[in-house]
Amino acid sequence: MSHIIITTEECTWLSGNCSAECADACPMDAISLSASGNFLIVNSDKCVGCEACEEVCPEGAILILEC
Ligand code: SF4
Ligand code: SF4
Repeated sequence: MSHIIITTEECTWLSGNCSAECADACPMDAISLSASGNFLIVNSDKCVGCEACEEVCPEGAILILEC
């Protein structure tokens, strides 16, 4: 199983400077917006560690930890 961590300091989603390319790029639909639209949710059970989200993030805000 893989887990991904989105670092809040670098992620520009909340400031409106990113349209969540990471969620669009995920082939497993593992990244989604919260119901309030205020934060991103990562479902580590769906994540397969493909690194697509990491590659498209313009801020380098995603770290993928294999475990
Ligand atoms: S692509 Fe990067 S900056 Fe944009 S929402 Fe995802 S983690 Fe945040
Ligand atoms: S590593 Fe791949 S499967 Fe996991 S959240 Fe990122 S894009 Fe989705």
